[in-house]
Amino acid sequence: MNKTFNYSAMKIGIIGGGQLGKNMAQEAKKMGFYVTILDPTPNCPAAQVSDKQIVGNLHNKAKLSQLVEESDVTTFELEHVDTSILQKMYDSGSSIYPSPYLIELIQDKYRQKKLLDKSGIPVPAYRSVDSPESLRSFGFPVIQKARKGGYDGKGVVLLKSENDLANGIKVESFIEELVDIDKEIAVMVARSIEGEIACYPVVEMIFDERVNICDTVIAPARIDEKTDAEAKALALKSIEALDGVGIFGVEMFLTKDKKILVNEIAPRPHNSGHYTIESCLTSQFEQLIRAVTNLPLGSTKLVSPAAMVNLLGEEGYRGEPIIEGIQEALSIPGLSFHFYGKKETAPFRKMGHITVSDEDLDTALEKAEKAKRILKVKGAIKI
Ligand code: ADP
Repeated sequence: MNKTFNYSAMKIGIIGGGQLGKNMAQEAKKMGFYVTILDPTPNCPAAQVSDKQIVGNLHNKAKLSQLVEESDVTTFELEHVDTSILQKMYDSGSSIYPSPYLIELIQDKYRQKKLLDKSGIPVPAYRSVDSPESLRSFGFPVIQKARKGGYDGKGVVLLKSENDLANGIKVESFIEELVDIDKEIAVMVARSIEGEIACYPVVEMIFDERVNICDTVIAPARIDEKTDAEAKALALKSIEALDGVGIFGVEMFLTKDKKILVNEIAPRPHNSGHYTIESCLTSQFEQLIRAVTNLPLGSTKLVSPAAMVNLLGEEGYRGEPIIEGIQEALSIPGLSFHFYGKKETAPFRKMGHITVSDEDLDTALEKAEKAKRILKVKGAIKI
């Protein structure tokens, strides 16, 4: 994309139309761009705020190529897509960022880990699994991960002993040492077409142990300065190593003995970066749009500490979502409420989130936890 491009005519294509696509589209619309979404669900969250939706599967080559052809730039809200047609179009000059070759590499967690490892980035010890025997090669306990298709902890199992082998993952997988984790931290990194790079503050991710979904994000992370600098340096080095263009969520483990290991990289906006909408000068979503349209990156400065809590569908409900507690929760000062517009809830489905900004991080966290207790997403159908 040439810098003399008339940006008032910019057309952005987004592959995937969930909550991340919705926020991407909103930022692109803020900048006056025309937005088309590809998603199989008619009137999906992103389509509700976009100019056009192509209804189609993310593995449908004809629909993917239609999206790219109709857009000046195409980008992703998720990585689980067919990359073959996108690679052909990329090779013949279509603007698709991040590169569909990088998307393909990231789809395979084992290849991703190997590339980071080769580039000198510390990662947990890992080994390929090519026989039932090799599952035992690290001893127990050990983490087994599906190479492809996993998200939100699906495709990750802890094998505590020989007895758990029967519950192992049956698809192509690899194993990792069980890391003694002190904190799970993450850094968003943006990198433009011309290689300008910027990173956001280090945040802490806290997980809902029932389902392994990131539940609460705290910005900035409660870590010392040295760890903070090291985490940022590693995040930047990882994205340089991948030659990534766009925005990336770099997930890391801070170990009990103060080492930082890179766990995995999301090649798109990330749940751990939602707080940037209210609490940074440039949100992760605007930053992505800038990065892939050859515009200068915006400031990543943290304006205020923040705590973000995901609103997951309550257990026991499906169907049309019913929000409980919205009046009381929105009376909390500094709270911002996001609801994604999904037509149906399901147990633990990500239905929305709240971010509380406060000049004091502990207060932000207290308020967010209070809101989490008040706000419930139930559904019209009891199950
Ligand atoms: P997903 O892509 O599904 O989120 P991850 O690789 O991030 O999968 O793993 C999900 C969670 O499992 C992590 O957030 C972490 O809590 C735990 N986990 C993953 N790998 C390890 C490991 N090597 N040691 C300890 N815990 C791990």
